[in-house]
Amino acid sequence: KIRTRIAPSPTGFLHLGTARTALYSWAYARHFGGEFVLRIEDTDVARSTQDSVEQILQSMHWLGLNYDEGPIYQMQRLDRYAEVIERMLAEGTAYRCYSTPEELDALREGQKARGEKTGYDGRWRPMPGKVLPAVPEGVKPVIRFANPLDGVVTWDDVVKGPISISNREIDDLIIARADGVPTYNFAVVVDDVDMAITHVFRGDEHINNTPWQINIYQALGAELPTFGHLPVILGDDGLKLSKRRGAVAVSAYEDEGYLPEAMLNYLARLGWSHGDDEIFSAEQMVQWFDGTHLSKSPAMWDATKLAWVNGQYVKQADDQRLATMVATQFNKRGLPVPEAQALAAMCALFKDRCHTTVELADWLAMFVAPVQPAEADVAQHVTEAVKPALAALATRLATATWDKPSLNQAIKDTIGEFGIKMPQLAIPVRVLVCGRAQTPSVDAVLALFSREEVIRRLQTA
Ligand code: GLU
Repeated sequence: KIRTRIAPSPTGFLHLGTARTALYSWAYARHFGGEFVLRIEDTDVARSTQDSVEQILQSMHWLGLNYDEGPIYQMQRLDRYAEVIERMLAEGTAYRCYSTPEELDALREGQKARGEKTGYDGRWRPMPGKVLPAVPEGVKPVIRFANPLDGVVTWDDVVKGPISISNREIDDLIIARADGVPTYNFAVVVDDVDMAITHVFRGDEHINNTPWQINIYQALGAELPTFGHLPVILGDDGLKLSKRRGAVAVSAYEDEGYLPEAMLNYLARLGWSHGDDEIFSAEQMVQWFDGTHLSKSPAMWDATKLAWVNGQYVKQADDQRLATMVATQFNKRGLPVPEAQALAAMCALFKDRCHTTVELADWLAMFVAPVQPAEADVAQHVTEAVKPALAALATRLATATWDKPSLNQAIKDTIGEFGIKMPQLAIPVRVLVCGRAQTPSVDAVLALFSREEVIRRLQTA
């Protein structure tokens, strides 16, 4: 049975790169009718926070990446890691190392000075016929993995292809610190073995860790999973996408009015393709995603394209749903929220021209808050010549039936009366009522205001 996982460290929000890895792992499991597990890698106690765990879970939920097991917390599995370490010590695949940090610093400095590769020299590693140093007083040992001394570690990466690294390049890794807390490379293997993970997708910054992990699998006599290392996501400046270069938290996109299905769609395409398809649902991705067509080279984050993708989804989104999202925006801005039906009708009229629900809220704010037309627009469009026509229109609107056809008729009657063209009246009406010279069809827009409000705004001329 296919089992995949996402294993975020709770040291911040859910990063876009992690979200993409989660999406691929999720889609892969779903495609093959397998299972997807969420594990919280919280062994870096100093940097892990409960707040971050909650943010990660919230973003996973928002994206709709549902998991079959979890969250599983590494810090709740310390007994299990201790048990495996005891076994490895007994079997000779791990050993205690009493080297102090000062001693290791000196070792590294010496290696650097001699132009050698830095790394642990195995001074506490038991070897046939070797006499180990005397155990120092009061030093709590760390546990090191006895990495194989020769041979080559090879795996066929589903993203990058075959990769080989010689064991001579790899030193004896610390697998448990002096306080007994395991390190990432060890805990990740114990967990992936215990959780029967068959496919590991993760960022390619972990390629250098994989040989250690493969050696640990072998020391445990466990079967290897398939690895797939996804290339980094770069910002449009060609540098790794980071906090300093714009939003990298999934939650930031939620706040900025992106729709989760658009995020998934965009993240899916960032390193994977299905022919020329650009807009597709998560269900379609699940149908197509079989671990092929993954890109080897870095993906470029393209905010403009994401906005375009999101716009496609906003256009198709249900009006009631958009209304709920706009209501949230209005609440945040301290604006009164129109009744649900009315707000949905406003969304229906404006959603075509918006990339995000924040943009939609920017538009719709005119229905609930005063507008401030640009002086240049007023000067250009609300001319002395047109003011009598505006006044006549206001008079007609005072008694017109308040629906789109009647409003249209009132406007037509007014331009007929003054012998002017439609834009000569419609544009100043827009400027005064909506605060903008361009809007959807003016009769449709006016119909969404109250009669009193339209007349009041026309009278400001
Ligand atoms: N906690 C690791 C990370 O956040 C997980 C890496 C892995 O998936 O093995 O990068």
